[in-house]
Amino acid sequence: MSCATRRSVLKMAGMSAAVLSGAAEFLPAAQLPGQSRPETAGPEEKTGANVMAIAAHAGDAFFAMGAPVAVAAHSGGKGSLLSLTLGERGSPTIAPEQYGAMQRKAAQDAAALMGAEALFLQYPDGELPANDEIKLAVCDMIRQYRPLTVVTHWKGSWHKDHRACYDIVQDAIFYAGLSGIVRERPAHEVRTLYFADNWEDASGFVADTYLDITPVFERWMKACSLFPMWRGETGFRYDDYYGSRAVACGCLSHCSKAVCFMSPPDQRVRDMKSV
Ligand SMILES: [Zn+2]
Repeated sequence: MSCATRRSVLKMAGMSAAVLSGAAEFLPAAQLPGQSRPETAGPEEKTGANVMAIAAHAGDAFFAMGAPVAVAAHSGGKGSLLSLTLGERGSPTIAPEQYGAMQRKAAQDAAALMGAEALFLQYPDGELPANDEIKLAVCDMIRQYRPLTVVTHWKGSWHKDHRACYDIVQDAIFYAGLSGIVRERPAHEVRTLYFADNWEDASGFVADTYLDITPVFERWMKACSLFPMWRGETGFRYDDYYGSRAVACGCLSHCSKAVCFMSPPDQRVRDMKSV
C-alpha cells in the first residue's frame, strides 16, 4: 500500500497517527523518542536513544513498555525499566514474598536479554502511594539514568496502582527538570513522554504514534516469557494479547510488528509555517 493510500485509510478511520519506523529511523531524527536535540545535548546524550519505562508493576514495564526500551538498546542507546512495585501480590497461588522474588529475578534476566537495566523501588503491590516521597524517588532515578524519553501508564486504568503511577511520573518528570529542586544529582529534562498501550489502561486511550519494533520483536517476546505470568498462569494470556497487538499495530503502521503510544496533549501541538 502506498503512503498516500495508507494516509487515506488512516484519515478515513478518523486517525491522526505518527509512525516511527524502528531502529533505522529511531535514532537519527531530532525529535523521535529518546533522541537528543544536538544543540542542547550533553556528551553522554549524543550516543543514542535513552528510554526509560516506569511502571507500577514489573510485568507492565516489560509487557506494555518493554518494546521501545528494547529498540533503544538494539539501536546502540540505553534502556531501563523501573518497577515501582514487584507485583508480588499478582499470583493467586504463590505467596507474595516468594512471588516477588520470582518477579525480581524475571525482570533482571529479561532486562539482560534486552540489553537494558532493571530498576526497582519496591513499594507494596496494591498500595502504591502517590506522595512526594515516591515522586522524588522517581525524580532521583530520572536524574541518575537521564532518559530523554519516558514511557509510562495512561491514567484511564481500572487499577489504582496504574493511576498512581501516572500521577507519580508526571510530577517526577517536573521535579527532575527543575534545577530549583536540589537533590544529589543535577536537573535533567525528559524531552518526550509517551503513554503505553496496556490492556488494563484502555479507558480513553487513543493511539497517535506507532513504533516499528520488527527488529526486536522476537527478543522482546523471549524476555517477556521469563515472567511466571506470561502465558496465562494468573488468568490473562499476555503472550497472545501483546503478540497479536504487535501484529495489529504493524498492519496500521505499514510494517511487520509495531507498538503504539498516546502522547500528552502538549506534545500533539505542531507549528505550521506559511510560505
Ligand atoms: Zn499492573
